Amino acid sequence: MTLYEKYPVSLSNSLTSNKEVFVPTNPGHVGMYVCGPTVYNYVHLGNVRTFLTFDIVSRYFRHLGYKVRYVRNITDVGHLESDADEGEDKIAKKARLEQLEPMEIVQTYSNDFHEVLHQFNMLPPSIEPTATGHIVEQIEITKKLLNKGLAYEVNGSVYFDVTKYNESHHYGILSGRKIEELMESGRKLDSQDEKRNKVDFALWKKASPAHIMRWPSPWGEGFPGWHIECTVMSTKYLGETFDIHGGGMDLKFPHHECEIAQAVGANGKSPVKYWLHSNMLTVNGQKMSKSLGNSFLPSELFAGNHRLLERGYSPMTVRFFMLQSHYSSTLDFSNDALNAAEKGYKKLANSLSVVKKMDHTSGKVADQALAQALNQLVQDVYTAMSDDFNTAKAIAALFEMSARINSFKAGTIGIESVDSATFNRFKATYIAMMEDVLGLTEETEVNNNTLTKVMDVVIGLRKKVRADRNFALSDKIRDDLQAAGIQLKDGKDGEISYTIE
Ligand code: AMP
Ligand code: ZN
Repeated sequence: MTLYEKYPVSLSNSLTSNKEVFVPTNPGHVGMYVCGPTVYNYVHLGNVRTFLTFDIVSRYFRHLGYKVRYVRNITDVGHLESDADEGEDKIAKKARLEQLEPMEIVQTYSNDFHEVLHQFNMLPPSIEPTATGHIVEQIEITKKLLNKGLAYEVNGSVYFDVTKYNESHHYGILSGRKIEELMESGRKLDSQDEKRNKVDFALWKKASPAHIMRWPSPWGEGFPGWHIECTVMSTKYLGETFDIHGGGMDLKFPHHECEIAQAVGANGKSPVKYWLHSNMLTVNGQKMSKSLGNSFLPSELFAGNHRLLERGYSPMTVRFFMLQSHYSSTLDFSNDALNAAEKGYKKLANSLSVVKKMDHTSGKVADQALAQALNQLVQDVYTAMSDDFNTAKAIAALFEMSARINSFKAGTIGIESVDSATFNRFKATYIAMMEDVLGLTEETEVNNNTLTKVMDVVIGLRKKVRADRNFALSDKIRDDLQAAGIQLKDGKDGEISYTIE
């Protein structure tokens, strides 16, 4: 029995507003598409939260034994300043202001994006396609929508005809909106507008003479609209219907709504089985965003040099802080929460290094109740993760596991009072959940190269001192290290290992 059969995942589907048991299109496989960043700016901590959510989703599916194809795009053209197809292309604007090639902007911020995600120990996607790399496909699907009468051309631009689409489908199915209400709200169209109706959106935009990013098309030189790139790249790599589509909650409308309309219009099929949306990181209740001026960069967070920060926090502390809440709830940033997260993370990380060194040798079962309690904790952590990736509950179970590990270490519970199969399952689950699923690796001291080298020197010296039978000095080295929070452990074979509190 595979782990995914043993612990079936249920997830909150934004499309039905229900929690549903995940049934993959292709047994044993998961296809997931996540909207990536528009690379015109440095990644802020709010963006990090969304990508962390899907890092966890892909990690957990992989841990359960699924083969995951995780596609996350890079938006390097077509995202205009406003969602209503107005304003400049974000990347072209930045390139104009900084007097750089648009592709220099794209490269700079793609590099930053990758570096930041790496700092937070996020795994790379399986495929990372770019919008500019799929212009041909975007033109093809636009032609298809024109042929089906679901789009119209005006003056070198092509728009999706939402009203026409809505005659036979529901535009607004994902976000619970109605076209009549959308037609009523906001600014009215004026005679300058090319759109037939205000709800329509651009599939292709004509490039003005000054516009730098441009490609030839049947409608003249232009560039693709923002929504069409995701329809093209998701269905190209995952099929016309795929399992999971993710992104931040703010993308649900209009971006994801438009993706559904385009895919259904072009392929006659609903593109996605499960829509997952990660909620916002807020500051004093307000969404963290560059434009609101309440955002900060991960580098500022590590260094602690931003007015909102009392001090710096490590990447693992921040990762832990974010995982302490469920992805579907908003998460408010605060120094107090980060301070608490630092303590919590250290506790779990310490137990991780302790449990890794624990071995079980005896086979006898003495304490049935303890064995049952350990098995229950293993069950709890999987139940939490399989319940819509509830990292908050999984962490609560890990704290309980950590308390047991501490008791084993202190000797208040003998490790040999449970059978080795139970202990080893408990140990393997703790390690796998921490490292593989939550991505919470041991940080700072233990992973620190310099410290490792220094410890090698100290341990070498102590071995020499012992070989010289200078036991007083040997004990002093051990005691002084202990006072500094480093426990030396003398192995049977003369080898010396250590743990750090
Ligand atoms: P953008 O580069 O603005 O398109 O954003 C990239 C991703 O970050 C999108 O999925 C957004 O939904 C997400 N995002 C932006 N701001 C926040 C925030 N404050 N909290 C969580 N996710 C966010
Ligand atoms: Zn997208």
